[in-house]
Amino acid sequence: MSYPTQPVCLPDTNLPRLVVVGGGFAGMNLIKHLPKGRFQVVLIDKNNFHQFQPLLYQVASAGIEPDSIAMPLRKRFKGYPGFYFRMAEVLEIDAVRRRLITDIGWIAYDYLVIATGSETNYFGLHDVQANAIGMKSIRDALNMRSLILQNLEQAVYTCDKQEQQACTTFVVVGGGPAGVEMAGALAEFKRYILPADYPELHQEDMQIYLLEAGNRLLAGMSEKAGQKALKYLQDLGVHVDLGAMVQSYDGETVRIKDREPLRARTVIWTAGVKGSHPGGIPREVVGAGNRLLVDEYNRVKGFERIFAIGDVAAMVSDAYPKGHPMVAQPAIQQGRHLAGNLLRLLEGQPLRPFVYHDKGSMATVGKRKAVADIGKRRLAGRLAWWLWSVVHLLAISGFRNKLLVMLNWMWSYFTYEKGNRLIIRRYKPRAQQQKPAGQPET
Ligand SMILES: Cc1cc2nc3c(=O)[nH]c(=O)nc-3n(C[C@H](O)[C@H](O)[C@H](O)COP(=O)(O)OP(=O)(O)OC[C@H]3O[C@@H](n4cnc5c(N)ncnc54)[C@H](O)[C@@H]3O)c2cc1C
Repeated sequence: MSYPTQPVCLPDTNLPRLVVVGGGFAGMNLIKHLPKGRFQVVLIDKNNFHQFQPLLYQVASAGIEPDSIAMPLRKRFKGYPGFYFRMAEVLEIDAVRRRLITDIGWIAYDYLVIATGSETNYFGLHDVQANAIGMKSIRDALNMRSLILQNLEQAVYTCDKQEQQACTTFVVVGGGPAGVEMAGALAEFKRYILPADYPELHQEDMQIYLLEAGNRLLAGMSEKAGQKALKYLQDLGVHVDLGAMVQSYDGETVRIKDREPLRARTVIWTAGVKGSHPGGIPREVVGAGNRLLVDEYNRVKGFERIFAIGDVAAMVSDAYPKGHPMVAQPAIQQGRHLAGNLLRLLEGQPLRPFVYHDKGSMATVGKRKAVADIGKRRLAGRLAWWLWSVVHLLAISGFRNKLLVMLNWMWSYFTYEKGNRLIIRRYKPRAQQQKPAGQPET
C-alpha cells in the first residue's frame, strides 16, 4: 500500500486530538459521553450514517424502510463543540508516527479509539462468500430484500418446475438470534404476503430452511430460549435442521455434511462474525475471532494511546475467557466507560477497569413471539415479544426513526402487511458481478 502524501484537512487546535474510527454503538456512545471542550474529536466512518443492526432482518424482509434504522452521523453530533466527521475508510494504523492512513489521506492523532465492529465470518468457505448473502449492513439487507423478491418474480414466470422450486427455496444458515429472526420473518412473509402478491404460487411452494451446525438454536441464550425458538419456528413451518454443517454453495446447490444437498437461489449467511480492523496492528495483539486484545481499560495491549471498544475488542477475563459477547450492550457500555477514562487520562488520574453489566438477551420469532433471558428469568411468548419491541424501539437512534418503526410495526400488527416490497436496485450475487467482460449474464 502506498503512503498517502496528503493529510486530511482538519482545523488546527491546541486540544489533544482524539480520533474515533467507527460510528457504531461503541463509537457513538463514546463521543456522546466525552466531556465537551477537552478534546478535538474526529470521527471517521466509511459510511456517513450509524446503522441499527438488530433490525436489519426487518429491512431484508420488507417490514421497515432502511432509513428508519439509520442515523446520519453529522446530524447525530450536530453542534458538538470540537467535533469533526470525515467519511473515509481507515486502511492502516501507523503507530510509530501516530497517524491513520485512509483512502482520503492521512490523519494524525494523539489518542486513537478503534471501534470498527465486526464483519461476516465465512470460515474460509470462499464459494459461500461469493454466492450467499450476509447480513451486516443496510446494503446487505437491501440486497437481500431485492434477491428474495427477484426470486419470487422469477418463480412466477418460469415454467420449469425445478427452476421454480430453487427460486422458492430459502435457506438461512446460522441458528443465532439473526438467523432465527430472519427465518421467522420469512415464514411470516410466506404466510401473509405470498398468497396476496403471488397468487400463481402455492404457499407450500415456498420452503424455508434454517441450518445450524450446533445441536441447538440460540446457543448464547438459555436452553429454554433455544427450545422455545425451535418450537415457534416449527409452528411457522420452518424446517429447522440442527447439526447441519454447510460445506459449500455454488449459487445453485447447498452442500451439507451428511445430508442431502438443497437447491436454493437464496442463501442467507448469519453463521458468524469476526472482528474487523484496519492493518498495522501486530499479529500478537490479534486474538481469537480476529479481535484486538485489550486490557481492562480497553487499551490495545502494548500501545499507550490506542484503545479498542465494542465487537472488535476482546477483553479476556476469567468471567469472559473469549472476551465479551459481540452484542450491543458491551459496545455501548465500553464506549461510555472509556469516555470517563480518557478524561482521567488527561487529568493524570488512575484509570478505572471496565465491568460489564449483562442486561440479558432476547430474540423474536415471527410477529408476536419472542424469547428473553433477563437475569435468572426466562420469558417466552407474547410478553417477551412486547418486551423485545419496547427495548428495540427505545434503542433506535432518533425520535423520527422510533416513530417510523413504531408506525410500521403497528401497521403490520393489525394488517399483516409488509409495506416495503420494492426491488429498487436488482441484486446480483458477487460471483456473477465479477464475471469477465463479454460473458453473458445469467
Ligand atoms: C443482523 C444482526 C443482528 C443483531 N442483533 C442484535 C441484537 O438483537 N441485540 C444485540 O445486542 N446485538 C445485536 N447484534 C450485534 C450488534 O449489532 C453489534 O454487537 C454492535 O453493532 C457492535 O457495535 P460496534 O460499535 O462495536 O460495531 P458496529 O455497530 O458494527 O460499528 C462499526 C462501525 O465502524 C465502521 N467501520 C468499520 N471498519 C471501518 C474502517 N476500516 N474505516 C472506517 N469505518 C469503519 C462501520 O461502518 C460501522 O459504522 C446484531 C448484529 C447483526 C449483524
